[in-house]
Amino acid sequence: SPKLSPQQRRFSQSKAAHEVLAQSMIAHALQSHIENIDPDQCEAGGEDAFFVADLGEIYRQHMRWKVNLPRIEPFYGIHSRDVPLTLPVAVKCNQDPAVLRLLAKLGTGFDCASKTEIKQILDLGVEPHRIIYANPCKTASYVRYAADNNIRMMTFDNPEELYKVKKFFPDASLVLRISTDDSKALCRLSLKYGAPLDSTADLLRLANELELNVIGVSFHVGSGSTDPSAFVTAVKDARKVFDEAAEVGYDLRMLDVGGGYGTDNLEQIAAMLGPAVDRYFPPSIRVIAEPGRYYVETAFTIATHVIARRTVQEDMMAGQPSYMLYLNDGVYGNFSNIIFDHQHPVPRVLKHGPNYYYNSLAKDSQLTRYSVWGPTCDGIDCISSSCFLPEVLEVGDWLYFNNMGAYSKCSATKFNGFNDDHRVMYVVSEAGAQALLES
Ligand code: PLP
Repeated sequence: SPKLSPQQRRFSQSKAAHEVLAQSMIAHALQSHIENIDPDQCEAGGEDAFFVADLGEIYRQHMRWKVNLPRIEPFYGIHSRDVPLTLPVAVKCNQDPAVLRLLAKLGTGFDCASKTEIKQILDLGVEPHRIIYANPCKTASYVRYAADNNIRMMTFDNPEELYKVKKFFPDASLVLRISTDDSKALCRLSLKYGAPLDSTADLLRLANELELNVIGVSFHVGSGSTDPSAFVTAVKDARKVFDEAAEVGYDLRMLDVGGGYGTDNLEQIAAMLGPAVDRYFPPSIRVIAEPGRYYVETAFTIATHVIARRTVQEDMMAGQPSYMLYLNDGVYGNFSNIIFDHQHPVPRVLKHGPNYYYNSLAKDSQLTRYSVWGPTCDGIDCISSSCFLPEVLEVGDWLYFNNMGAYSKCSATKFNGFNDDHRVMYVVSEAGAQALLES
């Protein structure tokens, strides 16, 4: 672990204190929603899974970012008169409207991958220059849409994309995305995107011939990066591309250090990334990042209802009772993060019979083995093949799962008709966030 500065230490103490408050607000919201649901009487779907989102956690993550990457932010600051400070948060991993509204008020920018994401952000009243269209392979009509709405910043990583931009938006501000070593990331992206380093000089020459405006370099070290040194290598590679660009005649002004930041390793990444940026790029270079998961993962909790249970007869006969639990949400729904994001959500008991157990174990907590399944008819719809929970849970009980804010709801499908738009209840565990939301 990196040594924390006094400011970082103060911040993490205050964050911990607020998290205690947050937990009690989340517990209260979960409980007050389900205590009015009588599964024997409610309308069809009245017991559907639902989220509780703590907007205070989004606010804390933003403050944490600012505390931990101070060496990057002043680079923005220097430009703040003509180019406002932007930290384009990746819209793709959670498009919750309240989250986006809060981020807009916090002054972040937005990384969008499609026309729909761009439109959602513009509809919030966010100025076009706070948006980067960070998809190196864009739909032609979306490029026209970006041009019509003056979304100038966009990434590219191949010659065809340069011809496309030349045709539909020749005044765009282009950012060359380079590939990275993302072998230690949860989700690899450089298999699909990013120009190999031996192609960047040719790309820059072509952009120059086409009289296109290249303004910077971007990279993404893979989502859920576990290797802070990958950021350092990518920063050094970006430096080489800046130098190549200078030879072609471009004076690049912006470095985009992408996404990949985790909720549990920001400090470790910052301890290496901040100094690397500082070492290889002078303060005149604007530095932006595209964090996604980091902002939202821990802010969302989901509650699910136990709709069915089957006893595993062989285990029962062997004297080790175990059950298959069926929930009303699964991998085709909000647990799509299991498939697409390699997550392993951990079930916890929220309500058993008349008792609530948020954040605490059931009184006589003898553990029972379960496998946990989603509601669709597909065998792949398994949330956990084996886990232990206190109590013998029954149909009508409730479970909850923490850390369900990233790459979950946004990639849910409607397979089997189970995924109606699930309700999100909001709590705000930070006065600063509350004040912003009311402003
Ligand atoms: N930027 C781009 C271009 C991405 O493709 C992604 C995720 O796929 C992100 C940012 C967000 O990444 P993360 O959620 O790992 O921070």
